[in-house]
Amino acid sequence: MPSRPLATFFVLAAAAAPLLLAAAVPLKSGVTFAYRDMHVTPGDDFDAYANGGWRAAAAIPPDRSSIGVGYEVSQRAERRNAELVRDAGAGNPAADTTRRMIADYYGAYMDMVGIEARGLAPIRPQLAEIDSIASRTDLARALGSRLRADVDALNNTNFWTENLFGLWVTQKLDEPDRTVPYLLQGGLGMPEREYYVSRDPENAKLRAAYRTYVAAMLRLAGFTDPDARADRIVALESRIASAQADRVTSEDVDKANNPWRTADLDRLAPGLDWNVYLAAAHLKDQPVIVAWQPDAIRRISALVASEPLQAWKDWLAFHTLNRGANYLPQAYDDLHFGFYGRTMQGTPLQRARWKRALGYVNADLGDAVGKIYAARYFSASSKAEVQEMVRNLLTAFDRRINTLAWMSPNTKAAARAKIRTLRVGVGYPETWRDYAGLTIRRDDPLGNAWRAQEWEYRHQLAKLGRPVDRGEWWMTPQTVNAVNLPLQNALNFPAAILEAPYFDAKADAAANYGAIGAVIGHEISHSFDNSGAEFSATGKLENWWTPEDFAHFKAASAQLVRQYDGYEPIPGVHLKGEQELGENIADVAGLSAAYDAYHLSLHGRPAPVIDGLTGDQRFFLAFAQAWRQKTREAALRQQIITDGHAPAPQRAETVRNLDAWYSAYGVKPGERLYLAPAGRVRIW
Ligand SMILES: [Zn+2]
Repeated sequence: MPSRPLATFFVLAAAAAPLLLAAAVPLKSGVTFAYRDMHVTPGDDFDAYANGGWRAAAAIPPDRSSIGVGYEVSQRAERRNAELVRDAGAGNPAADTTRRMIADYYGAYMDMVGIEARGLAPIRPQLAEIDSIASRTDLARALGSRLRADVDALNNTNFWTENLFGLWVTQKLDEPDRTVPYLLQGGLGMPEREYYVSRDPENAKLRAAYRTYVAAMLRLAGFTDPDARADRIVALESRIASAQADRVTSEDVDKANNPWRTADLDRLAPGLDWNVYLAAAHLKDQPVIVAWQPDAIRRISALVASEPLQAWKDWLAFHTLNRGANYLPQAYDDLHFGFYGRTMQGTPLQRARWKRALGYVNADLGDAVGKIYAARYFSASSKAEVQEMVRNLLTAFDRRINTLAWMSPNTKAAARAKIRTLRVGVGYPETWRDYAGLTIRRDDPLGNAWRAQEWEYRHQLAKLGRPVDRGEWWMTPQTVNAVNLPLQNALNFPAAILEAPYFDAKADAAANYGAIGAVIGHEISHSFDNSGAEFSATGKLENWWTPEDFAHFKAASAQLVRQYDGYEPIPGVHLKGEQELGENIADVAGLSAAYDAYHLSLHGRPAPVIDGLTGDQRFFLAFAQAWRQKTREAALRQQIITDGHAPAPQRAETVRNLDAWYSAYGVKPGERLYLAPAGRVRIW
């Protein structure tokens, strides 16, 4: 069975309304009429109909790769975060309090004068340590000491780390009561192996730009022979890329459950000195490590022995600089942005420093900020209202599953058990991290980041051997996103996404169900889709579908793969229906369930007509408007290559799979989005 990660709702690469339009007062209907383009027939291009007026006026800010709702909402969260961080330092809070940590972390990052004065000094001890590597044993120790909990295969689906490997700690796939460490492939500076192995001329250009960047970084840091070193580094990474599993394989959870006894690692994956590596990574006492991509880990381990020691030393030195560049003097920061922002994303301008400072505070002290954020900005009445929507969504799903003709009774019972036991977190977690033991210094931004990452790593290691906490959150309340946690049979909807236009306590229900309702439905559906079918109500990896259930699902999903393969947002570049399948199914299912839930919320009363639009019209319009987005071509290209989600305009056009959309907008055969009833994909 092809498997997919359950994944987050979207990747926040971007998006925002221009100030001019953002200032428009939202209508009571919850949709914005001025965003529409009335020259477009809804059935030809529903995204253009719903958002064409907005798109014509919207300008992507120079420091962004896109603009749209996600950015609009995240800007609100950012303003609040800024306010909160500023207040944290007020009144000189005592040392070791989280308020002091927040203030000092932020202050250290903003202290450009101090950063320039210190130069490379903060990173020199690490570079010296790398320089002193004289043997493969030393190398294994250096590699092990850099292992961090910076990947996440099933919740936030982050498969990238520039360290040799990445660690993820959660329950064992087939023993939900046991917490284990998962090891994932890593080692690349560009965000996906395809950049190294593809024959596409655009990717060849990026490879050349990357090599130039690597040399420039080494030259700036005073390394001799930077060009020769860059050649070695890029050659080594190309071999690592060839050794790596591709994205589709990485996402296949059925290939991931490979518990390796640590005592057997030297035999299972010879090359790397595993004893030394695990000791340096504080994993020596673990009886088992789960190899997520076993072939890749085996082949990368072999490269540690076969590739020249000097190539590995160069690679370590470069990645130490690369990871630290954002915290080093301006010249390093600029160089880093020049490649990752300008070249790879097409973004002309670096984001303002204070915004980046907030981003790092949130990444490294997320719960400290989140606790204050939730208390200040998320009302009890909003929480209750969203919980009511969640109940209606769950009822809608339960009814849909109960009436499915194709699903066998046993499978239905298992699905309904998952609905009953699903833990839906709204706003914020029930318990908070306290960051005890983490040192944050006012004069050491680079050290703060590294210590925070090490603290996070220790925090994750501390979960090993303890009971599994099914209430654990994997997103902070101030994050504008949502996530499905398959192993915990749980969902997180952070406070920061429960905001207009996704959710507006003052708006009519149709718009709320079309916008945040579809988001909630999307996440719920991941519990029952081709990935969700792999996990029982307890989060155990065991497929609860019959072969017949799967056959129907596969046939229906093949239709959806074709539907998305047919989209060509950039001439010559088609969407990857197979890569996006799980997310596209979730969009169809989420929208369908949100539609049912909206009608449940009416309790048999007719929907009001507001400003000439019926309830169903507003529902679909709000859905499409929640996807209004404009993206730079380079970023769009990167998204199509690397991401499991379809671009926003195609997500808006999910509507073409629902019968109710055809009647709401009078969509007729011959219109571009029209699908004959048999071609509309209904899985749930
Ligand atoms: Zn999703």
